[in-house]
Amino acid sequence: MQPPEPQPTGQPTAPELTDRLAWTREGAYLVAPGVYRIPLPLPFDGLKAVNVYAIEASDGLVMIDSGWVLDVTKEQLERSLARIGAALGDIRRFLITHIHRDHYTQAIALRKTFGTKIALGADEKHSLDALLGQDVRAMAAQAQRLIAAGAQPLISQMTEAGFQHPPADNGYAEPDEWIANGQSFDLGTRTLEAIATPGHTRGHVVFADRAAGVLFAGDHILPQITPSIGFEAAPPPLPLHDFLESLLLVRQMPDLTLLPAHGPVAPSVHARIDELLDHHDDRLRAIAAVLTDGQRTAYEVALAIPWTSQGRKLGELDLINQILAVGETGYHLDLLVARGIASAQLADEIRLYQLAGPTSGEQARTEPTNAGPVSTGPVSLPR
Ligand SMILES: [Zn+2]
Repeated sequence: MQPPEPQPTGQPTAPELTDRLAWTREGAYLVAPGVYRIPLPLPFDGLKAVNVYAIEASDGLVMIDSGWVLDVTKEQLERSLARIGAALGDIRRFLITHIHRDHYTQAIALRKTFGTKIALGADEKHSLDALLGQDVRAMAAQAQRLIAAGAQPLISQMTEAGFQHPPADNGYAEPDEWIANGQSFDLGTRTLEAIATPGHTRGHVVFADRAAGVLFAGDHILPQITPSIGFEAAPPPLPLHDFLESLLLVRQMPDLTLLPAHGPVAPSVHARIDELLDHHDDRLRAIAAVLTDGQRTAYEVALAIPWTSQGRKLGELDLINQILAVGETGYHLDLLVARGIASAQLADEIRLYQLAGPTSGEQARTEPTNAGPVSTGPVSLPR
């Protein structure tokens, strides 16, 4: 239904890698009538780019997400907009999927020059308040989680890398508008519906254009990687539970074309959600299996299970990905506890997990759990 994306030209040197990263190439790619995908660079080795989307509105452009506030991203956005005959000053409004730096901060900077309006999901206020506190609270919640995970080696590395001392001007500011769940945005040319999808962050929203058959999915549904969970200044108690619920919520909508914030456009939101549900099902099983050997911290579990599609060991990941991995393992363990499969106890600030049953947790499998409608089985999810 949508026009295919232009294929990159030139002779690829490493075909597989090039194909996987083809989506990061600079440009403005038509992905639906009046909708352009614009990749912008990121200062990471792993995650190379973020997609922002320019949508033709009756009075200019509306952008989904904005990129990281860096000179190179601003210049690339400028060049990419020029390809479609537009300029930064034509952007009327930024609709931001979530608070992470690569999505939100460039909008803040551009607002200073152009007065562009910015809207952000209402439940991001928790983390924004912490980030605007101008002290160490921004990373304190994540540091506390690492302590509870028993990940002292990572905390030492974080301190050395200056993670706990963010600059006072960290690029964050209040949006002009907080987006409510179900809110619709009339662009003159089309209507976008905001749907709250907590999990990746607490106030994450996706934007559906049902008439055009597309979903601006932010980081909620990514085609090539699984989104990190609850990596934010003020995480909720069970972000993985929230994330799985949000996947099921979008799975119940009509299937749409996936317009992700990282990765290429994909034909089916539903197909990718099914894969993500399977992935977390597998992870919960693998993590529960580690506990059959006895009491473990989240860090110990993270050291015991494979990471990435290449099956890497935790120590082979870079620091930020180790932190994300340990955090996510903790959230998986907390979900197992909420489902009655595991239990946890605190010892010297460290959370120790074990299976809830005498040996195998069999007994717990028949007990009701308090984690809501996702918990229809031990570690399996509705397909
Ligand atoms: Zn992102």
